[in-house]
Amino acid sequence: MTATLDWYGCATFRLKTQGLTLFLDAYIDRVPGADGPPGASADDIEDCDYILVGHSHFDHIWGADRIALRTGAKVIGSYETVRILANAGVPEDQLLPVSGGETIPLGSGVSVEVYPALHSCLWAGYDDQNPSFDCLGDKHVDYFARRACESDLLSGLGKLSADIDVHMRRSDQGCRGDGGTLCYVIATPEGRLFFKDTPGHWSGIMEKIDADVGILAASGRANVDGEPIQGALNDFLVSEAEFLGLKRVVLCHHDAWLGPIFPGGNVAGIREEFAMRRAGCEVLELEYVDGFDVFSGLMV
Ligand SMILES: [Zn+2]
Repeated sequence: MTATLDWYGCATFRLKTQGLTLFLDAYIDRVPGADGPPGASADDIEDCDYILVGHSHFDHIWGADRIALRTGAKVIGSYETVRILANAGVPEDQLLPVSGGETIPLGSGVSVEVYPALHSCLWAGYDDQNPSFDCLGDKHVDYFARRACESDLLSGLGKLSADIDVHMRRSDQGCRGDGGTLCYVIATPEGRLFFKDTPGHWSGIMEKIDADVGILAASGRANVDGEPIQGALNDFLVSEAEFLGLKRVVLCHHDAWLGPIFPGGNVAGIREEFAMRRAGCEVLELEYVDGFDVFSGLMV
């Protein structure tokens, strides 16, 4: 039985393996004109056993409630994710709160390992169009200044266009920040798939994880052990592949997911960097919902 991976844009994927259907994040509905599968909506998902939510921002969690309510899927996520979904009416017996350190058997020889991660540095500067550009500074910004920046950023999105304003209001489920960021390894009989939906990590945790294929977020200022990377997004992505021992990287969060005025990232530079520094690791940008055979050709 072959494991397949479908990208729904932003950081949302569907993994089918061993007769199970998992969603990794659940953000499917888009602003008009944004990148993503045309016309796709969380309201149209009919089949799902588990939803893994990386963190509680709208562009990751919004849709999980509707998928869970329609399909009966169980949701694995932070205690904040679970709070939001319980408020949205998802029954408690479908909610599996985690904080990192857990292994959850899903049946059919598949399990999910949960690890703590970090969100990208929303308070720090970056340039997605030039992922090899060294970003410096923005260190030691205190807690209150970080929170103020995040609040300004989220409220500012709605001012970008009337469509985005409507979208932000519809998707606002009252998240308290990112709610605590998690990453996951889905262990299957065919191989180990790592999933993280924002570029931030604790290096001491990453070096203990191994995986064959990694879904890595390629947008924003990377967070290394609580501070903005003093370097480029490329450096961060290569370091994640090295920590995990990846043979294949699937990029996410680099598309124009928030509409035409939000350009998305330049992934060509990421491919070039990997070719120079980690040539044994393939870097892929999936087409939307193309049933990619995720472990194909790998010696796992
Ligand atoms: Zn986020």
